[in-house]
Amino acid sequence: MSKRSAYQAALEQFDKASGYLDLDPDIAQILRQPQRELTVHFPIRMDDGSIKVFTGYRVQYNNACGPYKGGIRYHPDVNSEEVKALAMWMAIKCAVVGIPYGGAKGGITCNPKEMSQGELERLTRRFATEISPIIGPQIDIPAPDVNTGQQTMAWFLDSIERKSGVKSPAVVTGKPLALDGSLGRTEATGRGVMLSTLEALQTMDMEPQNTTAVVQGYGNVGSVSAYLLEDQGVKIIGVSDSRGGIYKPEGLDTREVLKFKRENGSVVGYPGAERITNEELLELPCDILVPAALEGVINAENAKQVKAQVIVEGANGPTTPAADEILDAAGVLVIPDILANAGGVTVSYLEWVQNLQSYYWTEEKVNAQLGQILTKAFAKVWAIAQEKEVDMRVAAYIKALDRIAKATIMRGI
Ligand code: NAD
Repeated sequence: MSKRSAYQAALEQFDKASGYLDLDPDIAQILRQPQRELTVHFPIRMDDGSIKVFTGYRVQYNNACGPYKGGIRYHPDVNSEEVKALAMWMAIKCAVVGIPYGGAKGGITCNPKEMSQGELERLTRRFATEISPIIGPQIDIPAPDVNTGQQTMAWFLDSIERKSGVKSPAVVTGKPLALDGSLGRTEATGRGVMLSTLEALQTMDMEPQNTTAVVQGYGNVGSVSAYLLEDQGVKIIGVSDSRGGIYKPEGLDTREVLKFKRENGSVVGYPGAERITNEELLELPCDILVPAALEGVINAENAKQVKAQVIVEGANGPTTPAADEILDAAGVLVIPDILANAGGVTVSYLEWVQNLQSYYWTEEKVNAQLGQILTKAFAKVWAIAQEKEVDMRVAAYIKALDRIAKATIMRGI
């Protein structure tokens, strides 16, 4: 799927759900567009002395329910349409789990794998400065996404604080602990995926110990989802990253695979496992499939070949609307991104709350709060799905759009 169509997919999902909600067409007109899109072009001095101009984006989708919130992605395919889609999904996601945020997303078109630490630091600091007029703890709060992490957030925070002269840890989340990050944040998205999977299995009367899972993408979300599911007794039989996949029907030791990836740069080559392609990985016989890489990987071309009974979307937008129809007809239960991967933004919210009160919680408390928020959201979305006889994605949109529409109407035009 082209990246341009990620936003088309998001709008198709929106339109499908708003039909069930009787959403006022005037409100739908407002919510179908981002409120603000900023594009910046800025120069970086590369290590060889040359100057390179990069393009970055920050899209602020909606802030009816609270400050804008969303990650920053570094990837060669980042473009304005993709960032718009991701920003809309953030607004919907925050409303699904009921945290007081709107939605935003950012990104820089770059290949971080070909850049040095020094170049990445200069890129991040300059980008932070360029978008700083529209960033702030009560305005818009960035976080990590694909190819960004704690170090990126530390540079981002430092640049903002140096410019303003004001200490404001709540301006970004996903920070290192040394800079007032939250315990539990690194694992939060994967933990949410694990919790959503357990909830989904329960609805199907399936025991984790008797199930197998396949995970696409072995970064922050994929690897943590894999080892937390393994801890629950799920047998992880296949995983992959951008270089390809590995398959072991007897089950992988997922923490060993992570260690191998850290040492060798990829899961490919892990001893004792068969090498497969990312396409083959998605079609493996298994109970649970967790796409945790990029958008559009389950589409009209391969949806019929998916063997899993449950798909838990770790990534944002991994299933196209056409694939949704095919999977629904085949009786596959899809736990949508806007619910399944909401653990990350939920603990980002808990990190922000701790920053604002300058009082820090134990990891147990953070994980307990996360569990409560997610299981409550899951139960509500499941109930809507049963009542309206719709799939879980439509049900999640119904819950979210209802909340955002009410806030928008109360604020007035
Ligand atoms: P990451 O950079 O840590 O990991 C991405 C992984 O995907 C890497 O292992 C990479 O090799 C792999 N990958 C890239 N292209 C691939 C391909 N074509 N096939 C298979 N694997 C491929 O990123 P992340 O933070 O884990 O994010 C992954 C997804 O989860 C994204 O869609 C992101 O938006 C979403 N997400 C992330 C968070 C978070 O807290 N980090 C929260 C919610 C959703």
